[in-house]
Amino acid sequence: MTGITLPKTVPPRVHLPLISAAGVRVVPPVLVGTHDSETSLVRRSRSDAARLPATLISTIVHTLVLLLLAFFTFQGADGEADSLIARQGQADSVVVLQALKSLDDQQFDKNAVFDQPVTVSIETPAVLTMASPLAAKDKADVVAAEMLELAAGGGVTGSESLVRLPSGGGLAMRTPEGRVEYGKKYGATRESEEAVEAALAWLAAHQRDNGSWSFNLDLDPCNGRCRHTKKKGTESPTPSTGATGLALLAFLGAGHTHHREGLYQETVRRGIYYLRSVAAEAEAGLDLQQGSMYGHGIALMALSEALTMSSKGRLRDSDLYDLVSKATAFTSVAQHDSGSWGYVPGSPGDMTVSAWQVLSIIAAKKNRVDTRTNTLADAKEFVMSTCKDRDFWFGYKGPPGEETTTAIGLALMLYLGQSTEYTPFYNALTKLAERGPKLSNVYHDYYATLALHHSRHPAWDEWNKKLRDHLVATQAKSGHEAGSWHFNDHWGNIGGRLYTTAMCAMTLEVYYRYMPLYETVDDFPL
Ligand SMILES: [Zn+2]
Repeated sequence: MTGITLPKTVPPRVHLPLISAAGVRVVPPVLVGTHDSETSLVRRSRSDAARLPATLISTIVHTLVLLLLAFFTFQGADGEADSLIARQGQADSVVVLQALKSLDDQQFDKNAVFDQPVTVSIETPAVLTMASPLAAKDKADVVAAEMLELAAGGGVTGSESLVRLPSGGGLAMRTPEGRVEYGKKYGATRESEEAVEAALAWLAAHQRDNGSWSFNLDLDPCNGRCRHTKKKGTESPTPSTGATGLALLAFLGAGHTHHREGLYQETVRRGIYYLRSVAAEAEAGLDLQQGSMYGHGIALMALSEALTMSSKGRLRDSDLYDLVSKATAFTSVAQHDSGSWGYVPGSPGDMTVSAWQVLSIIAAKKNRVDTRTNTLADAKEFVMSTCKDRDFWFGYKGPPGEETTTAIGLALMLYLGQSTEYTPFYNALTKLAERGPKLSNVYHDYYATLALHHSRHPAWDEWNKKLRDHLVATQAKSGHEAGSWHFNDHWGNIGGRLYTTAMCAMTLEVYYRYMPLYETVDDFPL
């Protein structure tokens, strides 16, 4: 990365021309922050033309000096970097992910620093109309057209009218203070927090040079040093978008983001860049599959959570938003008529693949991303179609039910607005708690823990103590494997140690990872 890059294009959203005269437009914002050269390029627009007296505007037109003075940028009081730079493809294609202020947020700030160096860029109108460097303009048009088509089919964002999503489940406690407060409140211990930290250290050590993670630990940087029982030739597709998404979710769950200073800021940033670099253009939106809808759903969920966590009110990273909304459009179009998702877009699916799509869509919707009207309603119908007579004993593709898919189904139903006051549903949660954690089946235990946490089931403390202490006790404690988990079971043998470690870390983050879906806490509005 070479020094500071002045953006050559200005997305239309931020384009606030001070002057438009004789084929020349002056384009704010133009100053590039310098406090952390390449990684925290801050670009915030200051365009206060509307507040300047008409006479001053007139003067600006005629004097270059005042023109220069008309532009300034400032560094936010909190010093947080709200922008990202990614290099993808060829060496000189620098991509800037930038946080943009909405017009309403661009108010005069009396604390702004006026005496910093200022650079002014003058571009032609033709340049101003260029799309984000993320994607070619024609692709953006295709997606826009798709979304319009979707809208024509019954209106945008109509899901809520069919599925009432709970207002809880926010990510606001993912801060150092939140970890302490909510860890204490819901049952973390010093040992479980140390286990989370050890897991994150192991995950960070297994990030590949290109920012990705792989389920295949025979590759760099592990080179097979971690033992596993994964059976060769029998595994399901294991895309690195899925592995990268899972690892990112574990970091995000503990409050580590690309925008907040911390031990793993760069780790998370590199992971996000990797996902963005491999997002493939599709007829509708962006495809993160790498061969499996598992990969797409998990990656989208991580990107959505990263977007939520790096947004401040209406200030958000516009390119990350673009990525999330286009990937969500792809998910929506990839849904089968049954309401499920399969390994391949459009194919009849199952509970496990569908779960990642549902959770990722809901995570995207936290960022006000639109989806097709019926996407979540159809998904809910699919989930219910896998049990008989509303007994909430869910199966893989249909009845009969079994324990793991029941744990997934119960968690999904909570996300999809199922009230815990409906007695058969509540009884199903109670039976889940009574069966207890499986201890080696982390897929079951992860979703069961989510379901019991989100419903604040009275059996939580007993469930939590058993699973938490088991995970603390079974984590690898020494050598290269320290911080990781591996259990020799069906799912563990498919996903291997990386999958198991990420899932166990997220299970131990549950206290502060999500605000319970069905408990209102006034001081966290998200
Ligand atoms: Zn290893």
